[in-house]
Amino acid sequence: MKKICVYCASSPTIRPIFFDATERLATLFVENDIELVFGGGAKGLMGKLADTVIEHNGKIKGIMPQFMNEVEWAHKGISDFEFTETMHQRKARFLEDIDGLVALPGGCGTLEELLEAITLKRLGQFTKPIVILNTDNYYQPLKEMLNKCVDEDFMQNQHLDMWRFVDEPEQVIDALKNSPRWDSGAINFANK
Ligand code: AMP
Repeated sequence: MKKICVYCASSPTIRPIFFDATERLATLFVENDIELVFGGGAKGLMGKLADTVIEHNGKIKGIMPQFMNEVEWAHKGISDFEFTETMHQRKARFLEDIDGLVALPGGCGTLEELLEAITLKRLGQFTKPIVILNTDNYYQPLKEMLNKCVDEDFMQNQHLDMWRFVDEPEQVIDALKNSPRWDSGAINFANK
C-alpha cells in the first residue's frame, strides 16, 4: 500500500466526530508512509485530511478541475497539485496508479465518486480495494442499499467482495491489505 485515494466531504458544518475520524486516519497514513490522493479542497474533511498530512510532513496530492481552482477552492498548502479540465477527467485521474480507495463520510460528490468506482470494479475496469469508513454509522443506509441490490438479484453475492465497511479509522489499512483479490475477469460475471 503506497498510494491511496480518499474521497470525502467538502462541507465544513458537519459534526466534530467526522473531523476526528479523518484526523486519525490521516495520521495513520503518514505513519505508514502512504501517499494520499484527494480532491484538493481546503474545507470540510478534505481540508482536515490535508492539514493533518501536511502537519505530519506526509505526502499528499490534490486533483481538481480548473474551474474550482479559479474560485479558490484549492488547499493552499498542497504543493503537488494537478488541475484537470473537467470533473470527469478528475474522477478518472483519481483511480489511476493507486493501490486502493477509501471513502469517508461525504455528500453527493463523495457518493457519486464511490458508486462510480464500485461500478467500474463490477465491470473489471478498476480492481483495487475499496474501503468505506462508516463513522457513527453514517453509511448504514448505503450498506443496506448495496445489500438490497444483492438480495434482489440486481447484483450477485460475489459483488459483496468489492467493498468493505469498517467502523474505525484504525481498521482501514488492514481492510485495504486484506481485501479479496479482484481482476478484469469480473466482467464475466458482471451481469449474471
Ligand atoms: P461532497 O461529498 O458532496 O462534499 O463532495 C466532495 C466532492 O465534491 C469533491 O471531490 C469535489 O468533487 C466536490 N467539491 C465540492 N465542494 C468542494 C470544495 N469546496 N473544494 C473542493 N471540492 C469540492
